[in-house]
Amino acid sequence: MTDYATLLKESGLKATFQRMNILESIEHYGHMSIDAIYEEVVKTHPSLSLATVYKNIILMVENAVLVEVPIEGKKAKYELAKSDHIHLVCTECGEVEDKPHSQSADALFNSMSKEENFSLLKQQINLYGVCAHCQEAVAS
Ligand SMILES: [Zn+2]
Ligand SMILES: [Zn+2]
Repeated sequence: MTDYATLLKESGLKATFQRMNILESIEHYGHMSIDAIYEEVVKTHPSLSLATVYKNIILMVENAVLVEVPIEGKKAKYELAKSDHIHLVCTECGEVEDKPHSQSADALFNSMSKEENFSLLKQQINLYGVCAHCQEAVAS
């Protein structure tokens, strides 16, 4: 398990219990919407408001502790900042699956950035489609 207190401090943020709780939930579930995060965190902090959770999440995105994964037609999900990986995003159920990032993709982006004289800071690759589970649901 990640040392959330150190992670927050190294990212220039105060390690509050609320923030550590948010990070713990997200690490447990992988990718979560703000509503789902709120539902989890409010169990331990009943007085917490959705607005406070929202503010904390946005702050942690700005400080690169969390990463936002946009989902078409649905609310974005959040994950802990990890090494580069590819997302398979289901537009039906909103499930997000992490897939390892291949070296050939890295090579492609590096050469592309070089050609365009583009200083690449970060990347996120999301493939949108329908997951195996949802395909089955449609077929039956
Ligand atoms: Zn699905
Ligand atoms: Zn991910």
